Order: sequence, then C-alpha cells, then structure tokens
Amino acid sequence: MAIEKIIIITAPSGAGKTSITKYLLHKYPFLSFSISAATRAQRGEEKDGLDYYFISETSFQQKIQEQAFVEWEMVYKGKYYGTLKSELQRIWNQNQIPVLDIDVKGAIHVQQQYPQQTLSIFIQPPSIEILAERLENRGTESPESIATRVSKAEYEISFNQNFNAIIINDELEKACKEAEEVILAFLNMH
Ligand code: 5GP
Repeated sequence: MAIEKIIIITAPSGAGKTSITKYLLHKYPFLSFSISAATRAQRGEEKDGLDYYFISETSFQQKIQEQAFVEWEMVYKGKYYGTLKSELQRIWNQNQIPVLDIDVKGAIHVQQQYPQQTLSIFIQPPSIEILAERLENRGTESPESIATRVSKAEYEISFNQNFNAIIINDELEKACKEAEEVILAFLNMH
C-alpha cells in the first residue's frame, strides 16, 4: 500500500495561505481540506463541519485527554485549534491527500510525527509592512488583533527554515503556481 501523504500549508496570518490552499483544492480533486476542530466562534459565512468542527472548550479538552489530536495549539489567547487523527484518516480512506492549513507550531508538530510522508510549505509575506497592510485591507480584524498577528508573524517567520519549501507571496498567482510545482514534485507527478 502506498504511504499515506500529508501536505501542510503554513504561514503567518495574512500571508495568503488560505487563497493558495483554495486554489490548490479547486484544481486538484485528489487533495482534500483537513477540517480542524476549533473553539473560536463561528464567523459570518462559515459552516460547521466544512470550515471547522466548531466545538466547546470542554469537548476540546476531552479530545486532548483521549489523544484524539495529531497536534493542537492555543493559536490565539483562549482559542484552541487542532488537527484530529480521525480527520486525516477520513481523508486517507477516501484515497485523497489531506491539506492542512495550520499555524507554524502545529505544522512543526505534524512534521515531526510524520517525517517521511509530509510536505510542508511555508508561505512568506514579502515584508512585515506589506503583511500589516494586507491585514488592514481585509477589514475583518480589530487594530489590536492586527498588532497581535503582526508581532506573531515576525516570530513565525524566524522558523521558516524548518519547512520543506518557502514560497514568497508577493504575487498571488505566481505563489499559487510555485506551490503547485512543489506539490507535483513531492507526489512524483511531473
Ligand atoms: P482563523 O481563526 O483565522 O480561522 O485561524 C487562525 C489560525 O489558526 C490560522 O493561522 C490557521 O492556519 C490556524 N489553524 C487552523 N486550524 C488549525 C489547527 O488545526 N492547528 C493549528 N495548529 N492551527 C490551526
């Protein structure tokens, strides 16, 4: 049986990893978005069981006890996010490859657990100034949240050497193509 693979797209918030992930998922049906469990509130258009499994903190803690997670992090103060083992298995059972859109620490943990079968891609903003500008333009974050995300981004960029590939997202279309190339090479599909 072929070894079950994992693709991780990680980046500081606002670097464009969600856009790149969406592009990849749309183009390659053998890829499947790994739906994380999260304790934060559901936002506008988001759907439970599609964007996240929105669960209570109590049930998140219980899953930690049951060792149900491959990794979990308190990504923002009081807000837990985690990748469920059952989610990866669900996707592998469909003969698809999970694509994890997770934070830098989580990405390192998954990579440590599945070193042979994981491709990790770090999406880097062209500069901290541009990242701050993008977060402001997104219009979904408060000034405090932008400040938190920017300072976290600086810290996260310092870990970029831990990943298999670093892609600088100065132009979205180009970054999407680069991610695609790295993935096809990983899957021996060239
Ligand atoms: P948001 O609240 O904006 O949806 O996501 C916040 C951050 O949490 C993003 O950087 C996202 O990649 C990260 N994230 C989402 N799911 C997981 C997960 O399962 N584990 C970890 N470690 N981070 C996650």
